Amino acid sequence: MKPSLYNRKVILSPYLVFRTPELKGQYLSGKFHPGLYLKMNAAGFWHFENTGAQAVITSLWRQDGIHSCFRAADFRTRHIDPFLSEHWETWLNVTFKYYGKGGCQTALLHDVGLGNHLHLQVGPREPIPPIPDSYVVGKKED
Ligand SMILES: [Zn+2]
Repeated sequence: MKPSLYNRKVILSPYLVFRTPELKGQYLSGKFHPGLYLKMNAAGFWHFENTGAQAVITSLWRQDGIHSCFRAADFRTRHIDPFLSEHWETWLNVTFKYYGKGGCQTALLHDVGLGNHLHLQVGPREPIPPIPDSYVVGKKED
């Protein structure tokens, strides 16, 4: 994983689980955009409220596209009704504006060869959200 601009202390969310231990390590590295952490947590909370289960993160950093910029995460959707997946996507898009190119959006249900999943992203102009140190993403302590 290449270096990132963001280097924050991260606390695990009770609403998220990871497909692999490597993904959990990536999440805990604090290298992702703080706005993405906020949205991953919101997505996990919505999933738990609506399915009774934690959301599964299936991909974080990888070498292609926006995933290589520490600004995207993928979530499992194959275990839930497609109708509910669409609600999840819609809720994320009406709740979170995408700060970037017109026509792009925060959440996208799609299949890129590995099965249908929910892609979550923050744009290049996403502001750094103000989050209390005691919450999910805080300033790194030295
Ligand atoms: Zn993706």
